[in-house]
Amino acid sequence: MEEDKRFISGIVPPSERKGLAWWFAFQGSKLLIYQESDSVNIPCLVDFSELGLAAPSQHYLGHLDGRDCYAVELAEGIAPPQGMTLEGLRQVYGRLDETLFWVATRAVQIVDWDRTHLFCGRCATPLQTKKTERAKECPMCGQLHFPRLAPAIIVVVERGHELLLARSRHFPLGMYSVLAGFVEPGESLEEAVVREVKEEVGLGVKDIKYFGSQPWPFPHSLMIGFTATYAEGKITLEDSEIEDAGWFTAAHLPQIPGKISIARKLIDWFVEKQESSLKKAVP
Ligand SMILES: [Zn+2]
Repeated sequence: MEEDKRFISGIVPPSERKGLAWWFAFQGSKLLIYQESDSVNIPCLVDFSELGLAAPSQHYLGHLDGRDCYAVELAEGIAPPQGMTLEGLRQVYGRLDETLFWVATRAVQIVDWDRTHLFCGRCATPLQTKKTERAKECPMCGQLHFPRLAPAIIVVVERGHELLLARSRHFPLGMYSVLAGFVEPGESLEEAVVREVKEEVGLGVKDIKYFGSQPWPFPHSLMIGFTATYAEGKITLEDSEIEDAGWFTAAHLPQIPGKISIARKLIDWFVEKQESSLKKAVP
């Protein structure tokens, strides 16, 4: 995926706040936004307290176009101010500026980590937040606790003019997507690709190539995309997670995931490749 140069990540906040800052405030996984004519926006204020909302914690995220960004946890039960709403990130995608959206996906993960890492997992002492790195430290045993990140592979498997799509039991009715799964400890990404495809549909794959990656904050995954070619086997659904799987051509796709996801970018990549090879075939 393309690198966004507008946002520069940081941990140590500026010693004094100059001018306006972006405030990414979450109540649970819901983002505080306000409606503009045909889009939504994030509160941009000198200080979050201007909204008059109780916010137990604030985290500096870095700066966007030179403007500081903060993640804020809103206390449960607080109602948004007049003209503002709390909405899930999936609902906000496409209506909020794309860069602001991806900063929001960082913010929600930092807030979630802060909320769920209060005590040391080794000795149960209350943790202290480190000032110069994104970590918490146990003042008793010294154990460090970092934000959780779960790497998952996602892969488009091609066979000539067809691609493999599967349906998970959890998908909305009628939707199919490419295969994905979490990486296991001790496994390389390529090994995870081979294992997942084998486990979920019983196929062997080859020519595994890196495609790109995308943070996926539902709740804290990093999706690592690959392309692969069919090598051997017949589709057999062994994994109880998968309800159906099959080979599809670019011209006859079922319902597929929305533009927000790397799954869609992988499917679009396949479709564009097919279309350009058709153009070459027809002089
Ligand atoms: Zn400890």
